Amino acid sequence: MSSEKFGVTHPSQHLKRILELSRNIASMDDLYSLLNKVTVVACDLTNSQEASILLYDRTSSDLRFQAVADHKRQKLLKTSIPLETSVAGRVFTTAMPLVIQDAENDPRVFREIDRRLGFRTLSIMAVPLLVDQAAIGVLEAINKNDESNYTEDDLAILEIIAAQTSLAIRIANLERNIQESNANIRNLDRMKSDFIAIASHELRTPLGLILGHATFLKETVGEGLSDQMEVIIRSAMRLKSIIEDLSAIAQKEEGLARIRSNEFSMSAMVEEVAGRFREIAAAKKIHLSHDVPEGDTLTIDGEREKIDVALSNIVQNAVIFTDPNGQVGIKAERAGDKVKVFVVDTGIGIPAADIERIFDRFYQVESHLTRKHGGMGLGLSIARAMVELHDGEIWCESREGTGSLFCFALPIKSSRDMTAARVFTAD
Ligand code: ADP
Repeated sequence: MSSEKFGVTHPSQHLKRILELSRNIASMDDLYSLLNKVTVVACDLTNSQEASILLYDRTSSDLRFQAVADHKRQKLLKTSIPLETSVAGRVFTTAMPLVIQDAENDPRVFREIDRRLGFRTLSIMAVPLLVDQAAIGVLEAINKNDESNYTEDDLAILEIIAAQTSLAIRIANLERNIQESNANIRNLDRMKSDFIAIASHELRTPLGLILGHATFLKETVGEGLSDQMEVIIRSAMRLKSIIEDLSAIAQKEEGLARIRSNEFSMSAMVEEVAGRFREIAAAKKIHLSHDVPEGDTLTIDGEREKIDVALSNIVQNAVIFTDPNGQVGIKAERAGDKVKVFVVDTGIGIPAADIERIFDRFYQVESHLTRKHGGMGLGLSIARAMVELHDGEIWCESREGTGSLFCFALPIKSSRDMTAARVFTAD
């Protein structure tokens, strides 16, 4: 559809067409069909015979046709135009508009296209497409109908359309960048998961051998070497627990984690975990208290060890991140058809910007290069994995400098339709 069929358009129609173009940009899902629309609008509103868009191609360092208003000239698409010997090239390199009223006698016009198409370029108006003040292409209108001259109004209209087009191209580029970044992130995440799965699997066997032989040797070496053997065994046990953490995460991610369903009392677990950490807390002059409802066992159906790991990781953090003379409290209570377990501390707290991410694998608030505390940033992600395996939820509220509250909620036994000792797959 070219302007030849429309003749001169009224100014209010101009505004309507430009508004329509803006709306098309806002709802654009394909840049190239939008560029085609742009050329048709540019053609109509400047009352030209043809309009086209050329974009700069970095690989070939030239301009290439990306859209033309008149479909009869579609074969021009992707055709290259040299920067040095064309009007479009000049507009692109100077980033300035150019109007040539008598194109037939102007040496700046690139004649090759006319020859190929059997076309006569009589007048040209070309404006740059600018993104961040740099030219990325050119919008051209060719042959003012009725062979009159292009006016300042024509140029203003073409510049408005070019500004809208640049915006559309910018949006499309940003969208493409986001998609590429997301694909890269997914790829890196998969590589990270593969690495965790392979490393934890491959380390398990040699470590088992080290532990087995070290334990045997400790029995056989004399008193003098027994302490050294103890150091080896303790360090190997620490490595074993890291490998178990990595493997728990890998299994959850691959959907291979399973829980063995058995009844256990959350009240008893809170008492036990509090007992286990009380001495460690006291050594740091931290007061650790616990609170469970009297006469209510708060029965959960699930795998006790896994929930124990979740609660222990949270309590361990509370003790680590609380300064001497602070307090840590553990509380379990019934809330509707759920059991809620709270761990509150008066510690250093977590900056608001980090709260969302502390349950992610390997995430630590302090940089691992400068941090004072040990750990691999896995404790909370394991806690979340274990809680989610039990159809539960976990969250944190915290204020920097004041303290933190971690809470997880698990379905209470009576509310779940489970048969005893059932084994089911997670996820
Ligand atoms: P790590 O084992 O390295 O501590 P976690 O996954 O257990 O890893 O915790 C992630 C990070 O969340 C910690 O490194 C710490 O910065 C922050 N964090 C966790 N619990 C607390 C807490 N109770 N108080 C302050 N910061 C905490």
